[in-house]
Amino acid sequence: MANDAPKPQPGILDISPYVPGESSIPGGVEPIKLSSNETPLGPSPRAIAAYKAEADHLERYPDGAATTLRTAIGRHYGLNPDRIVCGCGSDELINLLAHAYIGPGDESLYTEHGFLMYKIATLSSGGTPVAAPEKGYRADVDALLARVSDKTKIVFLANPNNPTGTYIPHEEVRRLHKGLPKHTLLVLDAAYCEYVRRNDYEAGLELVATTENTVMTRTFSKIFGLAGLRLGWAYCPQAVADVLNRVRGPFNVTAPSLAAGAAAIEDRAHIESAVRHNETWLPWVSSELEKLGLEVTPSVANFVLIHFPSERGKDAASADEHLKSRGIILRRVAAYGLPNALRMTIGTEEDNRAVVAALASFMGQA
Ligand SMILES: *Cc1c(COP(=O)(O)O)cnc(C)c1O
Repeated sequence: MANDAPKPQPGILDISPYVPGESSIPGGVEPIKLSSNETPLGPSPRAIAAYKAEADHLERYPDGAATTLRTAIGRHYGLNPDRIVCGCGSDELINLLAHAYIGPGDESLYTEHGFLMYKIATLSSGGTPVAAPEKGYRADVDALLARVSDKTKIVFLANPNNPTGTYIPHEEVRRLHKGLPKHTLLVLDAAYCEYVRRNDYEAGLELVATTENTVMTRTFSKIFGLAGLRLGWAYCPQAVADVLNRVRGPFNVTAPSLAAGAAAIEDRAHIESAVRHNETWLPWVSSELEKLGLEVTPSVANFVLIHFPSERGKDAASADEHLKSRGIILRRVAAYGLPNALRMTIGTEEDNRAVVAALASFMGQA
């Protein structure tokens, strides 16, 4: 490259581009795709109908204020719609938060096997990403607090985390918040909160309601089954909502997405069946894999992290190859610092049984 060619800002070329879960395998067979934590139940039929109805007005700009959707979310969760900001996936909101609060010389902090977007968003804002070690694949509040400095502008915590599937109880999240300086923003990424069935868990609403420096992000991509539409939202202190509304695109969410999201959130029965499906199959998959001698990190989300033996021919790369030869795609997680594990999304009954059967033969037990 010539010296006088356009140069991106410092940090940009340090980003390893995000590699999405694979979706096809050679040979043109329709794969069993369990690589992106999508719901096997699909979206609510009401969301699909609302999406289609928008096709008749595509010449119109969407409502830039996302009023109908924010009102629906506010009603559903008992929140003040003025403090909700919608985005093109929660990824956009994570990026906007980083752009607004992190600059050169600043740091963000997250956990060792935390969601990759936190590092990408920090680097693209010119900041320095700092990762704190986890304990047993779980966020370690003491390790996080030990790495907080004057430069720490955002602490990102996915709770539950992807790709580990683990969570920390509300008391621990509060302890983390309590240890942070008032100028540090705590971003609680609750992409999988609807799946969690634990009495000591809280997605973050309480902390956002009672503190000036906590934001909770949510998505329609996971349990709501609308990943293709790119729709997320953040619940914020008023001052943070005001900042996000200045930096976001004026029409950052499409009209079909707004309509589908508002319909999806009203269909509680659909969400409940997705939760029930997960309550049945998450424990089944976990225990069947353990019976095969595989180590499975205890998950509260709609996916499991499977650890493989380290000997050649039995490791995660070999398992991935074996599964693909049977038309099954899980997620390699080497980019998350987990070179010898695969992440599996809980699928349909048929999908789950196919994975267990394929891994049984891989482990020499079928
Ligand atoms: C899937 C996921 C998201 C959602 O991203 P969208 O941009 O809303 O699709 C956010 N955080 C985590 C931890 C995720 O796994």
